[in-house]
Amino acid sequence: MFSKIYQNIQNSHAFLFHGGSSDVNFNFALNLAKSLNCKEKQGEGFCDNCNICKTISNLTYPDLIITSKDSDKKELTENKIGNLTQKGSFIYKIYNSSLSSSFKVGIIKDFHLANNTAQNAILKCLEEPPKDTIIILIADNLGGIKDTIISRCQLYEFPVPKKEDIYQFLSSSFSDSQKEESIDFIMSDFSLISKFKDTEENLNFYKDSIKNFSSLCFSTSSAEKIKYYNKISQDIKKNTNFNDYIHIWEVFFDKLLNKNYKSLFFKELFSKEYDIKLEKNLLNLYNVKEGYLKNLNTNILLFEFILNI
Ligand SMILES: [Zn+2]
Repeated sequence: MFSKIYQNIQNSHAFLFHGGSSDVNFNFALNLAKSLNCKEKQGEGFCDNCNICKTISNLTYPDLIITSKDSDKKELTENKIGNLTQKGSFIYKIYNSSLSSSFKVGIIKDFHLANNTAQNAILKCLEEPPKDTIIILIADNLGGIKDTIISRCQLYEFPVPKKEDIYQFLSSSFSDSQKEESIDFIMSDFSLISKFKDTEENLNFYKDSIKNFSSLCFSTSSAEKIKYYNKISQDIKKNTNFNDYIHIWEVFFDKLLNKNYKSLFFKELFSKEYDIKLEKNLLNLYNVKEGYLKNLNTNILLFEFILNI
């Protein structure tokens, strides 16, 4: 696929990478930026060692312009795209900041979450692109992306990453068992790659949260469930992103349903028989997620989900 995209750069300046894992796709986009600009390049390859390759790897290369959704927002909004007069914005830099390099590369992550105004701002840029620039949009899926944008991009659908692909994203400081645990989590939700790649803190948070949730599934006490509900509500108010908890519950049910795990952590967790009504729980969780995505007040939905486990 790399070779095909590389050759198509002569004919196209806009690419839409969709499917697979956004972190793997982002890494692919960086590799493309390297192969376009590497000082030591041979053909389509890149050295990964010269100054340019290194600054692209650590995202400090001035002709690499990246924007994405803010982590506390549900949409990629127009202020993350900017305009020609807004200094420092994505669009401003796309049209202004060129150094001596041969190719400028603009990458927009989370594009499936771009709102209407943000998409219109990018559309203008795709209609009148600056010279020697490519724009790469990265999206989980194409739903919600305007046809006018899709028709101006070369589309590349990425496959679901394999476990071997994920290994290279995990922190080298992880022990073998931590790697196995991380992969078990990530195979249920690829967006977790970015969470587990640098520190063990997130992995530990996910493991603890899954354990707490699992013991709640054995509890018939309403008092226990109310206690859990209160804890989650407080965490969300304080510092934890609600989305993290939704992930955790989804991973738990996915593993329980599909038994697709390898690590000792999950084997032990699921060695017991869970006597819970999966369909009802999944429906309640779906309602919580929908409510969250639609900005509704999720308190009642969350309460119903937890009390009925
Ligand atoms: Zn290089």
